[in-house]
Parts: sequence; C-alpha cells; structure tokens
Amino acid sequence: MQLSKFARVSLAHLPTPLEHLPRLSEHLGGPDIYVKRDDCTGLATGGNKTRKLEFSMGEAVEQGADTIITVGAIQSNHVRQTAAAACKLGMACEVLLEHRVGQPSETYTTSGNVFLDKIFGANLREHPGGTDFDVEMGAIAEEVRAKGGTPYIIPGGASNTVGALGYVGCGIELLEQLSEQGLKIDHLVTATGSAGTHAGLAVGLRGSGSDIPILGIGVNAPQDVQEERVYDLAVDTAELVGAPGCVAREDIIADCNYIGPGYGEPTESMNEAVLMLARLEGLLFDPVYSGKALAGMIDYVRQGRFIKGQKIVFLHTGGSAGLFAYADALAL
Ligand SMILES: *Cc1c(COP(=O)(O)O)cnc(C)c1O
Repeated sequence: MQLSKFARVSLAHLPTPLEHLPRLSEHLGGPDIYVKRDDCTGLATGGNKTRKLEFSMGEAVEQGADTIITVGAIQSNHVRQTAAAACKLGMACEVLLEHRVGQPSETYTTSGNVFLDKIFGANLREHPGGTDFDVEMGAIAEEVRAKGGTPYIIPGGASNTVGALGYVGCGIELLEQLSEQGLKIDHLVTATGSAGTHAGLAVGLRGSGSDIPILGIGVNAPQDVQEERVYDLAVDTAELVGAPGCVAREDIIADCNYIGPGYGEPTESMNEAVLMLARLEGLLFDPVYSGKALAGMIDYVRQGRFIKGQKIVFLHTGGSAGLFAYADALAL
C-alpha cells in the first residue's frame, strides 16, 4: 500500500499519541484500555476529519479549486474542520447544514461547532432534514462556476475513498506505534458514522497484514445498513490503494445498540461515559459520536465481552467542541 502517490496537504499533527488509561482500566476492572488521540490532530480543536481532509483538500488543491462545498449536521465536526482547512489554504467555504435533530435547543443551533464555523467565515445555509444534498451541492457548484470560481465538493464526513485514505494512514500509524511500544492488542474500537474512518482503518490494518479485530459502534444507521456502507467503502478504498480484496465482509462489524432515540440525541449511557472519562482521565469526548462509542465499549467490559488480560485501543475521534452545544442536555 502506497499513500505517497496521492495528493495531500499537511493539516494534522501526526502521529497522534497512543496513551494508556490506567484509572479508567482500573475503574472498570476489565481489560487494559488505551486511547489513540485523534482528538489531538490539531486543526481547530482537532478530530478525525482532519486526517481525511489532508487528502480531500490535497485533491482540491491539485484541481485548482478556490471554493470548497460540503455538508453536515448543524453540530458537524466535519464542517468545522473543513471550514478551518479552507481558511488555512486560502479557499472559500460553502456549507449546507442539515437539521437532523428534532426540537433543537437554542444552544444547539448557535453554540459549539456552528459558532466556530462562523468564526472561520464559512457561508452557512440551513436545510431541513432529508434534503437531497447531492443536488444542492451541485447547484452551489454551478453558482460558483457562474462567477468564474472553481468548486470542489467534499461529501458529508469526507467519507469517500479519497477521505478514507486518511484512516488507511491512521491504521498504518497505529501498527507502527504498537510495534514501537511492544504492545499486542486484542481489539480496536471506534465510532462509526459516515463510514470513512471505519473503512479506512479496516484497509490500513488488513492491507498491512494485521488481523486486529475492529469494532465499530454505530451512531445513526441500523447494523445491516452501517456494515454495508463501511464494507462498500472499504472495498473501493482497498482498490484505490492497491490492496484489492484485503477486507472481508465478516471483518466489518458495527454494533448499533448504543444510538438511543436517534442520531445526535443524548443517551444516559453517553452521559455517564463522557463524565467518567472526564473525571477519571481528564479527557473530553463528545455527545454524538465518541461518547456513544465509549458507552458501547464500557458496556462490552461490563458484559464480560472485553475481559481482564486483554488490551483494547479506543480511537478518540474528537468532537469536544460539540459539548458546548449540548450543555443543556448533559445531566450534570
Ligand atoms: C465524524 C465523526 C465520527 C465518525 O466518523 P465517520 O468517518 O463519519 O464514520 C466519529 N467521531 C467524531 C467526533 C466525528 O466528528
């Protein structure tokens, strides 16, 4: 697998640290838990989209783009990181924000990520849930072209094959760290949403000959839909990096039992997980993705599905900027 042949810009602080969480591990009384700190990628409070954007924005620069067009939920971490990356590269940023959460509070619609999007000067247009965003983004691209600009469209979460390359890189980076630290791990756990992170990791690990099991914890779609989405993207990404067929369908596992009432809707177990990691380890997670994924991992330990003697790595995908938007919803 060769990532060096792809267009790329440098946006992230890499490698991100791999750290042991002794107090959480002791508290749960199960496996040794480690965290891969992709909340520390560095761009605009960090997060997993920055690795993907190194490749998406690389392609945009290569194509001579001057305007980035993308889409996300009102509290999208992807949009925040994209808006910041566009600033850094001197490009305009057109954003479509989707109302995906029913009955949003005032803080949800103005604070957290959306507040930061405005600081970065992104042009925000709000749309109701269920809008056909491919059509909308195409229309904005036409607008940009009509004014003599060159648009580049990044799909939601930067979850196409180009964006997924960022997590192929993360998988390779993690294997190098494990080998440097002399660690043998039993499981890698990640939140899985628009699928690029999970798919990229699967290709990064399997394409390097590693059979470390990857558990995705879903945050929106049902299991069959999520697993298919990840698998399809992994197949295409594997082909792109020259490792066709390296990921098997049964390699892709998404547990979607921790979503609660829906995408971006707080749950008690998320609330507990966010407070537990803050108070035991001084770490900030987010209510929409990493908090629910943590809730899943904690439940696996309590159920004895992850046990003493094992070593688990949890990928911290970032998102703490979203905490401020959920200040009313988190029970403190
Ligand atoms: C986007 C996001 C995820 C999910 O990553 P996908 O590649 O969309 O599956 C997880 N955690 C955070 C904080 C995110 O912003």
